[in-house]
Amino acid sequence: MKPLAIFGGTFDPIHIGHLSVAWEAAELLDAEVRLMPASVPPHRLPPTASAEQRVNMLRAALSGQTRLTLDTRELDRSGPSYTIDTLHEFRREFGDRPLVLLLGADAFAGLRSWYRWRDLFEVTHIGVLNRPGVEACIPVELERAVAPRRTEDLNIIRAQPAGRVVELMATPLEVSATRIRELLAAGRDPRYLLPAGLFDDSALLAPYRESFGH
Ligand code: ATP
Repeated sequence: MKPLAIFGGTFDPIHIGHLSVAWEAAELLDAEVRLMPASVPPHRLPPTASAEQRVNMLRAALSGQTRLTLDTRELDRSGPSYTIDTLHEFRREFGDRPLVLLLGADAFAGLRSWYRWRDLFEVTHIGVLNRPGVEACIPVELERAVAPRRTEDLNIIRAQPAGRVVELMATPLEVSATRIRELLAAGRDPRYLLPAGLFDDSALLAPYRESFGH
């Protein structure tokens, strides 16, 4: 069965780094990939753009293809979203279908701070996407937990519903939403770091330009 891969994030804003690694993960895993914006990220400052604005940017970014889709379930729920709860919901919905939680290397290195992180392996595989330019040193406790779960065999990921960790070697792109927000706030135009649908519609980027000129 084709795996379902879930790529969560704040997407504040979505950029070509997100899209490119999500696309390559879809190809490597032969999976459908859902981009899933987070509402109240438990471990970070609130996003600059509202949930609605981030969804509008995602919709614009994803138009014209069907391999990457949008899943707004965490925004439709009130209060903080814990990934473990969301994944249980996916599991109920999709039965034994392989689920793969996609995490950039930086997010994976911080996994120990996630609520009930050890339980994630009961429900999902984890696909770790390489990401250049970030400190992604894996703490010993995390490596000890994941070492027996590591595999390089994508057939295993497709044959089992959950429980393995695979490194997905995507083309390295050193792009971050933080950098894009900084450029926009400084009045710059980082158009080729953004999906075309975003720079064609200047209203979508207005939340990041507001500090410019004040
Ligand atoms: P910010 O700069 O605001 O922290 P971000 O660019 O890291 O944002 P997020 O929405 O926080 O984007 O990231 C969602 C997921 O995408 C995370 O797992 C993150 O590691 C991954 N990710 C983001 N950018 C890249 C990239 N250029 N290459 C690989 N993974 C990435």
